Amino acid sequence: MIASQPEHMYTLAEGAPLPRNDTSVQVRNKQGGGLVLLQDTQLIETLAHFARERIPERVVHAKAAGARGYFEVTHDVSDITDADFLNGIGKRSEVLTRISTVGPESGSADTIRDVHGWATKIKTNEGNNDWVFNNIPVFFVRDPIKFPSLNRSHKRHPATHSVDADMFWDFHVNAPESVHALMFLFGDRGTPASLRHINGYSGHTYKWTKKDGSFHYVRIHYHADGGVKNLSADEATKLAGTNPDALILDLYNAIEAGNGPSYTVSIQTIHPEDLARCPVNIFDMTKVLPHALYPLRPVGKLVFNQTPKNYFAEIEQAAFSPSTMVPGIEPSADPMLQARMFSYPDAARYRLGVNYQQLPTNAAKVPIYIPTERDGLMTFGANYGSDPNYVHSSILPTTFHDNATSEYKPTEEVLQGPVVFTSQVTEEDFKQPRALWNDVLSKEEQDRFVSNIAENIAGVQRDWLREKVFELFSKVDTKLGERIEARVKSLLTKDSA
Ligand code: NDP
Repeated sequence: MIASQPEHMYTLAEGAPLPRNDTSVQVRNKQGGGLVLLQDTQLIETLAHFARERIPERVVHAKAAGARGYFEVTHDVSDITDADFLNGIGKRSEVLTRISTVGPESGSADTIRDVHGWATKIKTNEGNNDWVFNNIPVFFVRDPIKFPSLNRSHKRHPATHSVDADMFWDFHVNAPESVHALMFLFGDRGTPASLRHINGYSGHTYKWTKKDGSFHYVRIHYHADGGVKNLSADEATKLAGTNPDALILDLYNAIEAGNGPSYTVSIQTIHPEDLARCPVNIFDMTKVLPHALYPLRPVGKLVFNQTPKNYFAEIEQAAFSPSTMVPGIEPSADPMLQARMFSYPDAARYRLGVNYQQLPTNAAKVPIYIPTERDGLMTFGANYGSDPNYVHSSILPTTFHDNATSEYKPTEEVLQGPVVFTSQVTEEDFKQPRALWNDVLSKEEQDRFVSNIAENIAGVQRDWLREKVFELFSKVDTKLGERIEARVKSLLTKDSA
C-alpha cells in the first residue's frame, strides 16, 4: 500500500486501483448479449483464483477445530529435562492447537465416531515444539507399514466410495493388536460431547533429557480440567445431521464467551535403568503404562483463550510434526514415532510446499538461520541473501547452539539386535483391553460399548467375517465375545423380520 491509497481501497493483486469489482468488461450487442475479454484481468484473476482456493486436504485429520492459547509450567521438572519451555514455574509459551477427527473429510460431521487427533505447537525460546497426540492413550497399530492400510480401511471403499464395515473389520481381525484402540473407539470416548472435555495422550514414549546426558522415558497426558464428557451414540448421530460442526462451534463459542478450556499436563516417567522391570514394551503404542507403577506427575497447564481470526491462514495452513522438538526432548525407539517423524513433514511438503515452515502460522518465534535450505516454491523473504549455501564456510562462519560443545553430553541408548520383520500378536495384546473391560468400564459403559460395536458389526455383509470379529473380542473376554455376538444376531434378525 502506498501512502496516498487508503487501507481498504480495492486494487488488483498487483496493486492497481480499480473503480469497481462487480462487473466484467464486455463487448455487448444491442440484444443484451456480451462477450467477455481476455484483457479483463480482474475477471480472469477472480475466476482463476477461485479455482485454486482449495489446497490438498489432509489425507487424515482433515476436519478440525483450532484455537490459540498458552502452556504454563506449574511444577518443577528440571531434574529430568533442560528444555527451556518446561523450566521455570509460571513460564508461559504461546500455543496453537488443532483438534480433529481422523478418517472423514473436511466437510464431514464432528460427531462421527472416531479417534480425535490433537496437535499442539508450542512456540518456545528454543524453537517450536509440537505435541501431536490423540484423545485415546493407545493406537491401532505398532508397525508404521500398516498405517496407510489402517486409515484406508476406515475411509471409503474403492468401488462404492462409501465407508464399509467389511473393509473396516477385515483389516482389524487381521491386525488384532488394534483391539485395545477399538475398545476406546467404540466406548463412550469415541463420541466426545465437546473438545473442551477430552483428554490427550502422547501414545508414544519420548525421552526428556539433561545436559549431562541423563534421560528419562516419558509419556505425556492431558486431562481436561472440566472432566471428560461424551455423547450417547444416539445424540452423536442426531447432531451429525442437525449440527455437523457442533464440536468446532462449541470450542469457538466457549472461547469467544471467555470460557476457553484448560487441561492439566502430566507425565509418566521411567528411568532407563528401570526399563528391564517394566511389564510392557514402552515402545509399543498399543500399550499404556499402568498408572499404579508409573503415577502421573503434573507439569503444567494448557489454556486456550483465543479463536483464530482466519481459519485458513492459521489452522488449515498449520503443519504439525512429532519431529518438531527442542533441546531437552528427544525421540525414543518407538517405530511408529520414528515413521511419523518422516511422514508428517512429508505430508506438509506435499500439501503446503517445501517452504511451509515460513508461513506465519508455522514460523518459530526465534530467528531461523538454515542457509543450506533455501530456494524452492514460494520462498518468502530475503532467502539468506549472499550467505554461503554450503557447510563449513570460512568466508561467513555459522555459529552453533552449545549442545554441540563439551558442556552437553549426548544421551546414550544402546540399540542392537537382528534386522527382522516383527510385530507378532501374542496374549500380551489382550491383557490391557481385558483390564479396561473388566476393571475400568462400569456396567453401564459396558452395555453402551456392546450396543455401539454391535451396530457397526451388523453392517458386515459376510457371515464368516462377523464370526472372526466375535472371535477377536472373545480373546479379550469370552463373555464380551458372546454378548457382542448375541447383540449382532438380534439386530440382524430384527432387520430381516
Ligand atoms: P487405572 O485404573 O489406574 O487407569 C484406568 C484409567 O482408565 C483411568 O485412569 C482413566 O484414565 C481411564 N478411564 C476411566 N474411565 C474410562 C472409560 N470409560 N473409557 C476409557 N478410559 C477410561 O489402571 P491402569 O493404568 O492399569 O490401566 C488399566 C486400563 O485402563 C488400561 O489397560 C487401559 O485400557 C485403560 N487406560 C489406562 C491409561 C493409562 O495411561 N494407564 C489411560 C487411559 C485408559 P484417564 O484419567 O487418562 O482418563
